Amino acid sequence: MKHGIVVTIDGPAGAGKSTVARRLARELGYELLDTGSLYRTVALIARQRGIAWDDEPGLADICRSLEVEFRFDGDVNRVMAHGSDVSDDIRQPAISQGASQVSALPAVRAGLLDLQRRIGASGGVVVEGRDTGTVVFPRAQAKFFLTASDQVRARRRYDELTSAGADITFEETLTEQRTRDQRDSGRDVAPLARAPDAVLVDSSDMSVDQVVADIAAQVRTREAAHHEEP
Ligand code: C5P
Repeated sequence: MKHGIVVTIDGPAGAGKSTVARRLARELGYELLDTGSLYRTVALIARQRGIAWDDEPGLADICRSLEVEFRFDGDVNRVMAHGSDVSDDIRQPAISQGASQVSALPAVRAGLLDLQRRIGASGGVVVEGRDTGTVVFPRAQAKFFLTASDQVRARRRYDELTSAGADITFEETLTEQRTRDQRDSGRDVAPLARAPDAVLVDSSDMSVDQVVADIAAQVRTREAAHHEEP
């Protein structure tokens, strides 16, 4: 039997969620559920099958039959969809755009809800996304909202993009991020928001090691309390 609680980590793009969630899962010996990769996989499969990113019934069909598995391969969390490794394909810039479009559709969010809950049902899992502590696991035992100032988030993104050879200015990165933040926070379904019982962690002046250590310590306290419950 698997032990452990449900840990949710939500927050805006660039706050360091993916890195922190992955490291935390490794440290705790937990599974990792990267919910963004589910939206990305739906966008990828839609493109492969010629289904438009605004075809809500078509996308809902994809969600209904979606089979996804996560597997740690060293430090990388590999994503398998219907038995194929889609880890690299879902990170392509075009698919990021598709994920952002399909994730705004109510039928897609509803269609992925059961899958996410099934994956997290037995506990011992770190769930990372935008609405995991508010909508997907409102009763999670440990919730965190990871953020950083928009200057720091844009700087991280800018460094990442330029080191990958992108031709972009810092100002453009910041403007694009502010637009995305507004869209994520302003949408009608499952907007990005901090759950009232989520611990706010501001990573602006913290290293990844510090953030992971801080969150891991809090999770261990919650785990101990959970195991003492009758
Ligand atoms: O986190 P990641 O960049 O992989 O997310 C891909 C897309 O899926 C983003 O555009 C985000 O808005 C969306 N998403 C979401 N809800 C989640 C996770 C991701 O809407 N729980």
